Amino acid sequence: MSDATTATSDPVGYAVTVDRDACDGVFACLVRDPRFVEDDDGLAGFDPDAAETVERTDERVTATFADDRIEEARQAAAACPLDAIAVAPAEGDGEEEGEVKTE
Ligand code: SF4
Repeated sequence: MSDATTATSDPVGYAVTVDRDACDGVFACLVRDPRFVEDDDGLAGFDPDAAETVERTDERVTATFADDRIEEARQAAAACPLDAIAVAPAEGDGEEEGEVKTE
């Protein structure tokens, strides 16, 4: 029986959104997180095999994940020169130990 109770490495659910109006196809994100891919409009999208779900509209594309790679997504968001990527922990998983909210 395996019992994964290590709080720091438990997979957490989170959503990553690309604002397709802001995205300009620079693809700095792909270098940081290979789950980002170029879509048929030349903008950033997500590898559907890597995500739980991918939902795309004209304005944005959102993928949800349940793994321990949120830091890669955050690196991609930080690397985006147009600030087009948002990373949001799933509701209920928002409280991260050791993280101080300043707002
Ligand atoms: S780095 Fe930002 S602007 Fe460039 S493709 Fe990725 S999301 Fe779009």
